[in-house]
Amino acid sequence: MTFRTRFAPSPTGPLHLGHAYSAIVAHDMARAAGGAFLVRMEDTDLQRSKPEWDAAILDDLTWLGLTWDGPILRQSEQLDDYNKHLDAFENMGLLYPCSCSRADIRAALAAPQEGVAHDVYPGTCKSRDMRDRKPGDALRLHLDRALARLGDQPVVFEEIGDHFKGVHRIDPDRALREIGDVVLSRKGEEIIAYFLASALDDVSQGITHVVRGEDLFEFTQIQVLLLTLLDHTPPIYHHHRLIRDDAGKRLAKRDDARAVSKYRADGATPQDIRRMVGLS
Ligand code: GLU
Repeated sequence: MTFRTRFAPSPTGPLHLGHAYSAIVAHDMARAAGGAFLVRMEDTDLQRSKPEWDAAILDDLTWLGLTWDGPILRQSEQLDDYNKHLDAFENMGLLYPCSCSRADIRAALAAPQEGVAHDVYPGTCKSRDMRDRKPGDALRLHLDRALARLGDQPVVFEEIGDHFKGVHRIDPDRALREIGDVVLSRKGEEIIAYFLASALDDVSQGITHVVRGEDLFEFTQIQVLLLTLLDHTPPIYHHHRLIRDDAGKRLAKRDDARAVSKYRADGATPQDIRRMVGLS
């Protein structure tokens, strides 16, 4: 199996040190293995994604000395493909429409429910049918039905990153408790949930190893479950450590002070950036 990985930024802000670390690690792993390194722009958030950020991220990657293989895939150009997969889930009877706002969900969850994690959808619209879908409704995965469809088929993935190393098997009861009925499509905001688009593209781009930050590990279960439902073999995952600020908080988009472009403007070299993130 040829090693094939990718860097998949969302062009909603500048490339900061955390992204730079992720891109360099994935790139260097691919080059060391004689494999391929792809860049994919995850621009399904049509409001926050900006062509300026897309261009600025590519400029920073080039400045860092990273080279990528093949054309850049932009998710905003793939919406028809995602819709086909949503149709496949609908044909399996695994979707239902949901009109709950975030405030409705918070209110429903305010009454404590034993054994239900706070970010798990309380199921208000669960008995609704796709035939009464209204414009503006989100589409949720009916997780109980999805798990029932898989029956005894194991939902497994291999992790090779240090922190979570091993073969992980998704436990249905835990999935119901911790994942619940996730939104796969939301009109007007994000046409498709980014974790679904990302998982589908990993398959369509032939990614063998997903190299990304540990903060995304929590999405792996649902991604692997969705891929398994669609009869795809999931890639191998490598979740790497996160780059944190001086207070130990992980860097986020709003940490523009850590943008690679700022360090560039201050005269840093690509080698300085590698040193700053602990790579030499
Ligand atoms: N687009 C995601 C982000 O910028 C990364 C998704 C992934 O690497 O799987 O956080």
